[in-house]
Amino acid sequence: MMEKLSDEFYNLYPDIVENLKVIKSNIAEACIKAGRDPKEVTLMGVTKTVQAERINAAIDAGLELIGENRVQEYLDKRVRINLDRVKTHLIGHLQTNKVSKIVGKVDMIESIDSVKVAKAVSDYSTKLGIVTDVLVQVNIGKEASKHGVMEEELEELLHTISGFGGIKVRGLMAIPPIYDTEAEKRAVFSHMYKLFIDISRKNIDNITMDILSMGMSSDYREAILEGSTIVRIGSALFGSR
Ligand SMILES: *Cc1c(COP(=O)(O)O)cnc(C)c1O
Repeated sequence: MMEKLSDEFYNLYPDIVENLKVIKSNIAEACIKAGRDPKEVTLMGVTKTVQAERINAAIDAGLELIGENRVQEYLDKRVRINLDRVKTHLIGHLQTNKVSKIVGKVDMIESIDSVKVAKAVSDYSTKLGIVTDVLVQVNIGKEASKHGVMEEELEELLHTISGFGGIKVRGLMAIPPIYDTEAEKRAVFSHMYKLFIDISRKNIDNITMDILSMGMSSDYREAILEGSTIVRIGSALFGSR
């Protein structure tokens, strides 16, 4: 367990403290505009390529959730991260051969994108005697460069994996294409939200739809306006990579 960082330490990272304030106030403003309670939206700091010391500065400044993309990078860093004060999610693509390394070491896996990986996570969780919270990643822009299930395949996948005892599906995650205009950004998030609501209404056994993870540095305000419950912010918080 790490000691609380001193005020002196903060001063080494004024950018992070300042950025966090700005982002939190932008989130609050978007919530007000959308008529939503700010408590419905969780800020995730995306920590890929960010050193543990900087991550800890953000945690000390009030960040409560971090997201990592790569299993190995996270495992290498995690001993130095102030983990007793932050929750962690895996947000990058997960290969089945890495499942045993990560299950039990994060609070949620947001990047379930196949029956195969869902099964592997479930089986390994059962072996550890735990149930792993997961989100299913949807390739909402149907981009060849991105992971995630197609929306047309989502319901069937959910039905299949709902029977897996070692995982609990909590919602959906998406990384939409990068758009320039507010209208385009809102349109894709609104489409994703509709899918989320449609799926929730099917009341699939053993599946809850209470988390919708969407929105990054360039579009988190639009994502909140359209119903996001987790915004995943990297560069706006930690600087460009
Ligand atoms: C890198 C990353 C983010 C954050 O991106 P920024 O544009 O730096 O905010 C969010 N989600 C995922 C899945 C990522 O890989």
